This record gives sequence, C-alpha cells and structure tokens, in this order.
Amino acid sequence: MRLCDRESRPEGTVVDVSGVEVGGRTIAVMAGPCAVENPDQMLATARAVQAGGANILRGGAFKPRTSPYDFQGLKEEGLELLKWVGTETGLPIVTEVMDTRKVEYVCRYADVLQVGSRHMHSYPLLEEVGRTDKPVLLKRGWCATLDEFLFAAEYVLKGGNERVILCERGIRTFEQSTRNTLDLNAIPVLKRLTHLPVIVDPSHGTGHWWMVPALSRAAVAVGADGLLVEVHSAPDQALSDGVQSLRPEGFAAMMHEIRAVAQAVGRTVAQPLPTRD
Ligand code: PEP
Ligand code: MN
Repeated sequence: MRLCDRESRPEGTVVDVSGVEVGGRTIAVMAGPCAVENPDQMLATARAVQAGGANILRGGAFKPRTSPYDFQGLKEEGLELLKWVGTETGLPIVTEVMDTRKVEYVCRYADVLQVGSRHMHSYPLLEEVGRTDKPVLLKRGWCATLDEFLFAAEYVLKGGNERVILCERGIRTFEQSTRNTLDLNAIPVLKRLTHLPVIVDPSHGTGHWWMVPALSRAAVAVGADGLLVEVHSAPDQALSDGVQSLRPEGFAAMMHEIRAVAQAVGRTVAQPLPTRD
C-alpha cells in the first residue's frame, strides 16, 4: 500500500494552511494573479480576491514560461512583494518553486509551495519539498496519468511531508478550442484512490476567463475540495495569462455562484469580508 492510498487514511486528510483547512467541509479558494508584477497590481488584486471570499492568495514569482523570451517573474523581488501583501491582508501565500536550490529560500516566504505542471516529474524537486515543513500544492503534469500523479505525490509523502494538496489543471488532448482539457473525471477518481485533498484550476484548465466560472461550478459539483483561480486587477495589462484571468467583479460573481453549488453538495465557502468605507 502506498502512503497516498485512500486505505492508509480512509477518513481523508485535511491540510492546514496557516489556519485555512483544505480538504474539510469548506471549499478552499486560492486566487490571485498568474504572476506578481508590481506592488499596486498585487495589493489591488489581493484585496479584491479577499473581498470576494478567497482565503489563500496565489502569485508566481518564479514563472515557468514556455518561451524563454517571455516574462520570467520578478523572482526574489516578487517573493518580497508577496510577503508584504500577505502581511497587509493576512492571507496565506501559495507560490511556485521550480528549482531544488531555491526550496529553502522560497520556504521563508510561502505558506504553501506550489510544484507546477511542468515539474510534476522533477523527482529531486519532489524529494526536496518532501523534506520541508510546508504544505505542497502539487499540480498534475499536463501529460500525466492519475497513477503517475499519485506516484509524484508519493515522493513528497515518503520524505515525511504529509501535507500534500493535489491540483487538476487540465491535460493535453487533441482539442484545440481550449488551452487544455480540464479533466473533471480526475476528481472522483482521485477522491476514491487517495485520501489527499484535491483542488481544481479552471484557469489553466481552459485558458479562457469566460469559461472559468462554469468550470469552477462544475468542479465544486463533482467534489473538488478547492479552487485555484487566476484573477488580475487589470487583465489587459497582465504580463502573463491575462486572457484566462478574471476581473475582480467577475471573481466576486463567480464566488456567489460557487456558494450555491457548494450548499447543494453539502459544502460551504468562506463568506466575503464585509466592505469597509
Ligand atoms: C501556475 O499555476 O502558475 C502555473 C504555471 O500553472 P501550471 O503549472 O498548471 O501550468
Ligand atoms: Mn498562469
């Protein structure tokens, strides 16, 4: 039996992220820009997602871009910005780490270490994050079977780190109308095979902002424990993934819909903060 297998913990795992539960009755919502760009963008977006009811802030400082000529992220400066916005808002931070040599450094800033789709097969990285005391958000490789995905999680668990959150983010298929094909089949299959929490990223899963609310509703309906959603204060000016980023008002509207779906399936979503004058 593997450590990730459902039989090894039939009651399921609830991962604590600096006070936010992932895998419990409440749907965890991680939202924020694809990339950390500047203080204004980061603070405006963080405040907007918090007001909408997000309970964890996302933002990439080290960006794995397909083209080496595209914006690669603000790196160390981006982590400083994240830390500042996290302190301003009180939101825990999830951010990607790509390099084994940077794991210890990113741990000083992040509440959750994200291992991206491109790095799901980076076994030394999985071992390294498995040696930390930070929760790990492990995204499914865009070409990985669910069994390969679970073995990747097993690398982290084997290192002694029990706090792994799985994330379905779409896989590559023959379909060209969307960036990826969001594999919603994966949620009930994973929930059956493993005790680890499973969240869904409909932003990378579709590549279109206008599809994100529909697929978020679907994700909650099929049993996802949370969502990872890209939101930008001004998507037209985003340095990465603007076309799949919701505006703050779109995010707030989506959260409203999510609450209704969550209630229908016996779950809850955090309430938005009361607006302050
Ligand atoms: C991200 O969430 O920032 C990201 C790069 O996604 P993925 O690894 O799924 O492509
Ligand atoms: Mn992105």
